[in-house]
Amino acid sequence: MAKKPVRQRRQPQRTCITCRTISIKRELLRIVRTPSGEVVLDATGKLSGRGAYVCRRRSCILGALQRDRIVKALEVDVSEESRSAIEAAASSYDDEPQAVANQVD
Ligand SMILES: [Zn+2]
Repeated sequence: MAKKPVRQRRQPQRTCITCRTISIKRELLRIVRTPSGEVVLDATGKLSGRGAYVCRRRSCILGALQRDRIVKALEVDVSEESRSAIEAAASSYDDEPQAVANQVD
């Protein structure tokens, strides 16, 4: 059977825990609670564990650390270590959303 290009493919959507914008899952960044209880930014979306989503935007990543948003979303305490790591990772993102396709190495 010939494959027709599907114009509007149903894609899974998630809500940014910081700004509440609903986006296609792969355009968001995943924050994961790993089985060992660490909270990490999962740029690949492949880590196992409970996940929450934020925009690929510095303010949303940092915002997730504020007001215990991650704590509530993932039901975990964010250690100082995890917090620093996420803050460090956030600094490599712009404050504007980055299109996945436009990322360069
Ligand atoms: Zn957001």
